[in-house]
Amino acid sequence: MTIKSACGFDCYDACAIEASYEDGELKLQADNSHPYSNGALCRVVNQELLKATRITKPMIDGKEVSMSEALDEVARVLDSNSLLWRGSGNFGVMQQITDVLMSKLDGYTTKGTLCDGAGDAGVLEGRGINKTLSPQQIAKADVVVVWGRNITVTNSHLMPFIEGKELIVIDPIKIPIAKKANLHVQIKPRMDYYLAIMLARFVFMDGCEDNSWCEEFASEYEEFYEYTREHRIKAILEEMGIDLAIMGQMIEYIRDKKVVFLVGNGVQKYSIGSYVLHAIDSLGATLGLFGKEGCGVDFISNSKLGFDNPFDVKSKKVHKVNTPFSKHNTVLVQGGNPAESMPNSNKVRDELSKVSNLIYFGLYENETSRLSRIVIPAKNFLEKDDIRVSYGHGYVHKMNKVLECEFGISEYEFTKEIFARLKLDGLKSEDEYISHWLKQVKVEENTMLSPSYEEIPYQDGFGDDGDEFEFIDDFDDDFIDTKRFRKIRKKKHSDDERLWLITPKASNSINTQFNQHNKATLHPSLGYKQGDMIELSSEYGSAIFEVELSEDVRVDCVVVKANAKNVNVLTPDIVSEYGDGACYQEVKITHKKV
Ligand code: SF4
Repeated sequence: MTIKSACGFDCYDACAIEASYEDGELKLQADNSHPYSNGALCRVVNQELLKATRITKPMIDGKEVSMSEALDEVARVLDSNSLLWRGSGNFGVMQQITDVLMSKLDGYTTKGTLCDGAGDAGVLEGRGINKTLSPQQIAKADVVVVWGRNITVTNSHLMPFIEGKELIVIDPIKIPIAKKANLHVQIKPRMDYYLAIMLARFVFMDGCEDNSWCEEFASEYEEFYEYTREHRIKAILEEMGIDLAIMGQMIEYIRDKKVVFLVGNGVQKYSIGSYVLHAIDSLGATLGLFGKEGCGVDFISNSKLGFDNPFDVKSKKVHKVNTPFSKHNTVLVQGGNPAESMPNSNKVRDELSKVSNLIYFGLYENETSRLSRIVIPAKNFLEKDDIRVSYGHGYVHKMNKVLECEFGISEYEFTKEIFARLKLDGLKSEDEYISHWLKQVKVEENTMLSPSYEEIPYQDGFGDDGDEFEFIDDFDDDFIDTKRFRKIRKKKHSDDERLWLITPKASNSINTQFNQHNKATLHPSLGYKQGDMIELSSEYGSAIFEVELSEDVRVDCVVVKANAKNVNVLTPDIVSEYGDGACYQEVKITHKKV
């Protein structure tokens, strides 16, 4: 028997899965009847998911207890001062059911994100609403600009859709797709805003802006041109390390073509992340790339757009980026590992260690579970029913239970058990919630689509009411004191010998869920040997890493993947100026051999 389901990991692709048994062994494969599955699941599902060692025993104060005893204790310690901190270990919508519990208790949940908050705020500034660009539209483009998005690792199922396109890659690292590109612009980190503004200025100077589209949908384009003219070309190109010839080549590639920009998380891991997306969108609008076949700017979209979400309930909020854990007697950590994945992890671990009742509700032993007083084993996404929506495409999947789990508990079951113990009312059945989501989807050719799905988004304008696109018209940046390379150029930060920290995702892990390592990749010209141990330090902390050498990395950067042990000892817990997002890369790093 084959059971259809979907992958629940935090990933653009949200693959459709078929599960079957062969000789008593569970076999997972891509559902090839689905239009976005193209033959294979990635190695995380194939190699890591089923072999990972799970937490199987509930624990209180380091002692094994029954599930019932553990849940009794959870119910006893939860109150209106309690905080729920949920990670993105599982993207099924039912994970959010615990918000209903916290709302009933008048407790706290979090606001802000460790992921795309800044970029999303920038998209909303220009477009008013963050819609998905479908892979089928991307496939109709002539030119694809991959901007800060390591597609072969984070979005590999999109690769067939961009096969044969003219390809420009903008990335500080020569990532695998950059090696196949017509042009790789190895930009200095955190300069993406400036590149977008410069490109827009060159588009205007070249006369290839889309006047007729702008007249209808973005009529303030001439003011935007004036804004781009406030930026000094020579100083900015010099700072970016990009010469005029490269700018000319980029304009050649995109002039009068169907262009898609695929923008990744990397460009917005900064305090100025919202400005970066707003600037890239403004470049897209200048070229008239919205609402047309084969065109668009694609960023992490709002996966729940258009749904009536029954779990969107009111609760008191604390910030997710710099959560004040120690102010709460009880903290419930669900599907996450804040002690490793949050920025400034020394501070986070200190805060977590002061929580009287830290509850870890998850799958694997990790830094957070080891700090916890109560541990509750969860079910993984194969072991329960759920609904999968996606921030990378418009498809919706029903996640059907594939495996029984004797030891874990689902988020719905957990919530129901606590409701019963605390004699709370108002919780509906699991089937009612799942049906509520399912009855809202569109069905086309046997596939389910989000209610907000549009074949060509923004055809009728922006926002909810067909408004105009709003161009960027302001930018402040305290981190680099350059006054926008406008009138005064106060400080040339390229003289700074510290390295930019780049923290991309790894191919063998989802965030910190599976494999961890201690590798830092640097350019050979920095004088280290392969395998040297180095200490990397920032104003937030220091950690030891093993050197890997690569000429693919800029000489002013160090790459430490997001699943490296202690990488977040180095990262700042500052919050983006807009969007309440984490700013993992807003930091410079010193280095020395140990
Ligand atoms: S992790 Fe991503 S690419 Fe891998 S199977 Fe899941 S959705 Fe597909």
